[in-house]
Formats: sequence, structure tokens, C-alpha cells
Amino acid sequence: MAETTTPNAREPFSGAAVDPDERFEPPSDIILRSSDAIDFHCHKNILAHVSPFFADMFAAVSGNQDIQKDGKAVIPLVEPSSVLYGLLPRVYPAHNARLFSLTNPADLTDICPVHEAANKFQMVRAQALIEDMLLSSPLLDTEPHRFFAIGCIRNIVPLIRKAALCTLRDTVNPIIPFIPEFELITGNRALELSNFYQRCALRAQSVAGNTHSVPHNVLVSAADEATVITSHEASGQPFVWWREEGHAVHCGPIHQMVGGVWTQEVLPPQWYRNHVRQVSTALRFVPNGTTAHMSALDVAAPERAAIATCPACAQYALHDLANFAAQLKRLVEWTNGEIAEGMW
Ligand SMILES: [Zn+2]
Repeated sequence: MAETTTPNAREPFSGAAVDPDERFEPPSDIILRSSDAIDFHCHKNILAHVSPFFADMFAAVSGNQDIQKDGKAVIPLVEPSSVLYGLLPRVYPAHNARLFSLTNPADLTDICPVHEAANKFQMVRAQALIEDMLLSSPLLDTEPHRFFAIGCIRNIVPLIRKAALCTLRDTVNPIIPFIPEFELITGNRALELSNFYQRCALRAQSVAGNTHSVPHNVLVSAADEATVITSHEASGQPFVWWREEGHAVHCGPIHQMVGGVWTQEVLPPQWYRNHVRQVSTALRFVPNGTTAHMSALDVAAPERAAIATCPACAQYALHDLANFAAQLKRLVEWTNGEIAEGMW
């Protein structure tokens, strides 16, 4: 059946002859027709090379196609042209990914069906390329909820985790912005994100605020719910608020007495307990490493005043807090990552 009316796709899939002086490219020999009737002039060799799906198809049908155009067999597909425009440049070696860097929100519009089509056609490398682009997109920072939904829809677990972690970067807005992909995920998936935030917030709070019963040489085990960062990493030197020597009378670690007997329990000075309570509160709302770091360095005026009245604290506290802040940042990031891995 002769057929010539269907419009051709844009360059480089228009089927127009290529100027051989500009670049070497053999003529196209197969047409993929989209569901909205656009003809993509392609190369059997390239499609067969990247897709067992097409390799099998070309091996099975030899030359006697029902539909022909410009002497090429026409293969009708169920995918619309928007998907083929998104997919084919990613499998053609000469027109590769720099066209699709996923830096503009509009680049995400067809990313789910494009990834789905790559999966259907068994285009393993194109699929991996799309996943890499999603995982390294700068839009993750600005639209993490959308990437979370895309990860759920296409079951890309590393993307689900990374996007979930990125949602912790903002003060959580109870009104999640409108995201087209959210119509395609279940309410359960959306609830998971909310649960994830709650778990990270509670864990970060307890990691930052825990001052319970810590002798100087407690081992820091990040997996432990009761983890407390008590000393400089490199030297093992305890922070000044856990050291006995040199404090003013009203400062220094406080030994607990129960029923007239000294216990093993030691509390750090009041200024430190006040300070980590504030850090803990900040992490309740924005449970990420940056919040941990910034809030641990941000000592309020009353605590600064208390530090200034103690010789030991005045000398060491700010220096020790800087080290504490850096460790807390990493610990919060680590625990958030653990929670994400546990959930997805
Ligand atoms: Zn002191």
C-alpha cells in the first residue's frame, strides 16, 4: 500500500538527505510511526544495536511490510511523538544526551513515558542514561517531590531515596505543590514521604538533643538511638562540657545523685543543655545536615554569656562546638540515609 501523507518528524528524524560533507550518516531505512501519526525515519542497525525488542522485530519481519513509505517499511507504534522525540535522541550516538540535560522543569514533562518506552523496547543503556540524568539533575533541589513521584511511578529506587532526602532541605510546607505526577502515584506513596520526614525529624532531634548519662569515653555508634557525640574525632579529647577540670563553680558536668547515692549519670552544664535543646528544635522542623551544622554553631546570647563566665568553657567551648557541629552534620545525614534505605 503506497502511503505518503503522514508528516515527517523534525530533524534529525525527518528522512531528509544529509549533506555528506557535513557529517557521515547512512540513509535511514525504517520508519517508526507514532500514535499521533508522525513518521520518524530511523536506522535498523542502530535500533537493533540498542534494542533486543527491535532486533527481534527486524529479524522476524523481512521486507514484506504492509505499509511502505519512501521505500522504507513503516512500523506503527502506540507511543506518541512526544515520547519518541524524548527517546530516540538518547539512543542515537550522534545526537546524544546534551540535548536533554534535565535542567528545565519542562524537560520532565515526558520523562516517565520516555523511560517506560525505553524499558519496553529493552533499550537498557538509554534507560540507564535517563536514570543517571534524573539522579544528577539540578532540579532535584528545587522539585524533589516531583522526582520522588517519578521514582515511584517508574520504580527507580535510588531516585526515590535521593528525592526523599532532598525533600528534607526545605522547611516542610504542609501544602505540597501541585505536581502532575502525583496523580499517578497512590496515596500510600505520598504518605510514605510524610512518614519519612517524621522519622528523620524525630531521629535528628534525639541525636542532637541527647545529653543523657554519658561518661567521657562512650563509644559513638551511629546506629545507636542514644548516640551522643562527646569528643573530637581525631584526638578523642572530650569536649569541654564533659570534662571535669577548669570550670567555674556553677559550671561543668553535673553528677547525679539518686537517694543520696552518686550514680554513673553525668549531665553537661546547663548552657550546653539549653543549646542542644535549640538545635534539637531546629532539626524537628528541618531535619537535615545543614540545619544541624548551622544551628549547632549558632549559640544564643544567654548561652554565650554563660560560656563567658567560665574559664574552661570560655577557652574551649566555641572551638569544641565547631567540631561537634561538623560531626552532627554528618551523623544526621548518615541517619537520614539509613532511614531512606530502610524504607525503600
Ligand atoms: Zn564551664
